[in-house]
Amino acid sequence: MLKERKEIEKKYQWDLSSLYQSLEDWEKHYCELTEGQKGKRCFSKISKRRKTIDQSPKQLALLFHDLFELEKQVVKLYTYAHLRHDEDLTHEKHKNAYERMTLFYYDYKNVTSWIEPEILQLDAKRFKDYLDSVELKDYHIYLKKLFLLKSHILSYEEEALLSLAGKALNTSKKAFSLLNDADLKFPEIEDQKGQKKELTYGSYTLYLHLKDRVLRKNAFICLHREYQKFENTLCELIHGHVQKHFFHVKARNYSSCLASALMPHQISTRVYENLVQTVRDNLSSLHRYIRLRKTLLEVEELRCYDLHVSVVPSFERKYHCEEAKDLVIQSVAVLGNAFQKVLEKGLKEERWVDMFENARKRSGAYSSGCYESAPFILMNYQGTLRDVMTLSHEAGHSMHSYFSCKNQPYHYSQYPIFLAEIASTFHEDLLFRFLMERATSRLERCYLLNRKIDDIRATFFRQTQFAEFELKMHSLVEKGEPLTPKLLKEIYLKLNQDYYGEDLKIDLEIAVEFLRIPHFYSNFYVYQYATGISAAFAFVEKVLNDQKKGKENYLRFLSAGSSCLPLDLLKEVGIDMESKVPFQRLIYRFDQLVSELESEMKC
Ligand SMILES: [Zn+2]
Repeated sequence: MLKERKEIEKKYQWDLSSLYQSLEDWEKHYCELTEGQKGKRCFSKISKRRKTIDQSPKQLALLFHDLFELEKQVVKLYTYAHLRHDEDLTHEKHKNAYERMTLFYYDYKNVTSWIEPEILQLDAKRFKDYLDSVELKDYHIYLKKLFLLKSHILSYEEEALLSLAGKALNTSKKAFSLLNDADLKFPEIEDQKGQKKELTYGSYTLYLHLKDRVLRKNAFICLHREYQKFENTLCELIHGHVQKHFFHVKARNYSSCLASALMPHQISTRVYENLVQTVRDNLSSLHRYIRLRKTLLEVEELRCYDLHVSVVPSFERKYHCEEAKDLVIQSVAVLGNAFQKVLEKGLKEERWVDMFENARKRSGAYSSGCYESAPFILMNYQGTLRDVMTLSHEAGHSMHSYFSCKNQPYHYSQYPIFLAEIASTFHEDLLFRFLMERATSRLERCYLLNRKIDDIRATFFRQTQFAEFELKMHSLVEKGEPLTPKLLKEIYLKLNQDYYGEDLKIDLEIAVEFLRIPHFYSNFYVYQYATGISAAFAFVEKVLNDQKKGKENYLRFLSAGSSCLPLDLLKEVGIDMESKVPFQRLIYRFDQLVSELESEMKC
């Protein structure tokens, strides 16, 4: 039986009082902004400025000032409501507050949605003047990013037409998620003892990590055969989604789907292409690990359902949550005392973390907060090594948010998605090294090594494989070729053969795996997992090789928020994501880890 929230000690609950003392306080602020005079004033001030932004840079600066002041308050309200809601998803009052707030947030977005298109209607010469003006210097990067989109913005009438089509164009994504999350049901399966087991999307991942090979096989085969039954429909949904991207490429005059997806973040297509090419050139590293996996699992044939189970006898010890916090803090000693103190205060005194599971609490883990609050962490801590790693991962996100908020004005305080997974992976890697140093047995070392290797495989190799598939689908559509189930399955099967090599006996069911991956309905998103882990590892190397300089650079990175373009920022701190080096270095590290595991296991 799970504990009720009120039974959890206060010191293990997050302290949201930096946002509001209570729900009543929140309610007061909410009413002021939604119904009261204050809110009316804020909104009308912004609407009135619509007519003035083309008058002078000063007028636009005034608009930005009012807009971001208002947004700060809206986000503060939203943050509190969503955090309270996650504490207990059925709590009436919190749920109600959260639902009202979500609607208000959409209203806010709607009411202010004219601003960027309106600025983009300034002619190029005038836009340049605004960009160079003293009055707008605090918003320079923001405007620069906007300016780069300018040549892809259409006339008022055309933009209105495009936005009218928006909902209809989202149908395939919505239909996929309904089919995947609600309608699709899987049959019961049997484990090695012949006992019936329920198969769901969640239990599938769990089963694939278990020692019971019969269960793994049944889970893998049954799940994919269910998808196979709907392959025509599911392929058409993916096709529709890719066609939507292509429609925007044509309408907005981009050179390709990839270029249009990477453009808003100012990431060059070279990053993507280099990533795919470097992994392609080094697939022998992955093949070698697959071979080792086969040897260690002692199976005649290594199958697709043998890719996730640990190859080392399980090493399970429990970590008290206070021990976990200490490990996470100690592992970042290389970043210096001041850094550690901030983290220590956050995890221990200021109660950033909501540590334990309670009845009806949101599952999983995340880091979330706003400009005026601490960067809170939601956990469902059970005491496993995985949980300690998760705490370290989320602490990485939180420290990134902490430094960005502390050093940037509100409008630059959020770091871009491209940079989002770097700090978290950086922390995890430091923790891994720290635990390796302290490991007291061969078994513990092997267990850690296996986990690390599988992490890199899943985050770097597998996501690049997805990225390559995504690129292939889009290129076909750009060439006018229809995405039929036959064609897509052939491509996906071949990719698996290439990536895993001859030591994996491919189960044909793998050919439909892509049909169940929700990320294919995001627009060129997955490659960022691979670039993120590569940049994180580059940081670790830098900090370990030259502590002073490395630390300075890392703190510079954490403090920048979105005040620089992501690739420029990384270049400034010595990491060139447009070159192949960060990817090659990560692969080199992967090789080393595999060799270590090999020698520890005496193969
Ligand atoms: Zn993360």
